[in-house]
Amino acid sequence: MTILITGGAGFIGSHLADVLLDAGHTVHAYDNLSTGRRENIAHLEDHDRFSLTIGNVLDRHTLEQGIREADVVVHLAAAVGVKRVMEKPVETIKTNVGGTENVLELADYHGTKVAIASTSEVYGKAMQKDDDLDALSETDDWTLGTTEKRRWAYACSKAMDEFLAKAYADEHGLDVISLRFFNTVGPRQSGRYGMVIPNFVRQARAGEDIRVFGDGKQTRCFTHVYDAVEAVQRLIDTEKEIRGEVFNIGSHHEISINELAERVRDLTGSSSDIVHVPYEDVYGPGFEDMRRRTPNVTKLKETIGFVPERDTDEILKDVIGATTPA
Ligand code: UDP
Repeated sequence: MTILITGGAGFIGSHLADVLLDAGHTVHAYDNLSTGRRENIAHLEDHDRFSLTIGNVLDRHTLEQGIREADVVVHLAAAVGVKRVMEKPVETIKTNVGGTENVLELADYHGTKVAIASTSEVYGKAMQKDDDLDALSETDDWTLGTTEKRRWAYACSKAMDEFLAKAYADEHGLDVISLRFFNTVGPRQSGRYGMVIPNFVRQARAGEDIRVFGDGKQTRCFTHVYDAVEAVQRLIDTEKEIRGEVFNIGSHHEISINELAERVRDLTGSSSDIVHVPYEDVYGPGFEDMRRRTPNVTKLKETIGFVPERDTDEILKDVIGATTPA
């Protein structure tokens, strides 16, 4: 098959390109190199089944050329990372809503199968520490914050993508699924957009303070990018009828950010101090974080017979192993 990956030079996209090429597919990466990096795909540039187009998903004309030639589009291009969303809300909303609109409309026109990247951010504050909710399921209600708080623009933009995907599936019969990624991490992830693991590893390596935001008791389920891309590959390949469906892609290994900081410090052999920084100092007043975000992956398991299993230590070892010491 020929697979177009928008955001193909990005962190998840480049790993997905690796596995799809290994499986014998032809991969066309489409990326504007805003958050994607050429070095992520440098090892693929001479591959005879790989090509790269530098373009923006808001540029319909260039995008259409890629979609016309593809059997499947995996749409990962998006404004990502809480930091970027906080700094660039206009770009976030325009890219995430407008880009997905273009992808869906063009895929619909050309009859191309699509997988759209969404995010566990859409669950918002559905899972607070005191709740008796064990895990977030695809059909659970969401609790997003007010539009006064720009963090939620990201969740809303992705929620709109999901609505649009479902609308195309229901109304036009488009073969499209949405993928809710839970804190996907691993080698090649940049710390520039605020993600915690690359930042902690860099700080530990440099002997700088490891900066935990808030009280550090918030938890996350970090998902190894190798597991995430395997799940995507299996979802693309499945013969099952999953048109219009949404899937959680995440690990069940839950860890607090305080514990994460300690594990990073231990595994890097660093003597950095772990310090707590108020959210306000990082993101300005009124920032809201999520206390917990744990996926229910039953649907994923039932559909593809696979769930992410790699734990946080395995992830950290791979990230630390792939990072150059400061
Ligand atoms: N975080 C932190 N220090 C950092 C970056 C993030 O303590 O340098 C915290 C952040 O406040 C959140 C968690 O780590 O509670 C995960 O942050 P990330 O931005 O990686 O993903 P999120 O889950 O917020 O989308």
